[in-house]
Amino acid sequence: MIERIISVIFPNRCPYCNKIIGSGLTECGECFKELDKTPKISHTDAGIICISPFFYDSKVRQSILKYKFRGVAFNARSYAKAMCSAVESAGIKDDFDIITFVPLSKSRERERGFNQSEKVAEIVGEFFNKPCRALLVKTKNNKNQHDLNLVERRENVRGVYSVCKNEDVSGMRILLIDDIVTTGNTLSECLNVLKDSGAENVICMSIATATLD
Ligand SMILES: [Zn+2]
Repeated sequence: MIERIISVIFPNRCPYCNKIIGSGLTECGECFKELDKTPKISHTDAGIICISPFFYDSKVRQSILKYKFRGVAFNARSYAKAMCSAVESAGIKDDFDIITFVPLSKSRERERGFNQSEKVAEIVGEFFNKPCRALLVKTKNNKNQHDLNLVERRENVRGVYSVCKNEDVSGMRILLIDDIVTTGNTLSECLNVLKDSGAENVICMSIATATLD
């Protein structure tokens, strides 16, 4: 009953076109049909391969900006669903046993109220019935990658991540999730930290893939 009242006052809205949608839905039927969710494989400047269900443009870009900066957390379900179908189409469902995400610095997470990649990663974990937890911490505050060029981006992420003190990642096969991949430097740094600590395999995924302006 309470849920029904809430859904009348605050109805769910399609993450991509803002139309009101039914309570069990994650996006409207039109956007579901229109959005191309076939896996995009990015061979990034940083040398890593990243799989994403979306290109970072038009409706998807607007939607992710609202998600990250205006805290529209509902959108996470639709992104996670698209990522799960990308995992299945790419045939990598059995190639990882645990899911993790790119961490934010403590101050950034406090400011935003949540970690956008963690939220999506959790739902992907539920879907595949595999554990999702923080394996990495961000130990230094750095500049926002968005404001930097290709060379600066590489330098900016160096040494800012490490494996959580209470975790032993040796032998782990990990699905590592970020929100948007551009040059791949953030994911590459995280992947190297995990592999240097003994992870057997790390697959990189993001909600969307962008090109450097
Ligand atoms: Zn829509």
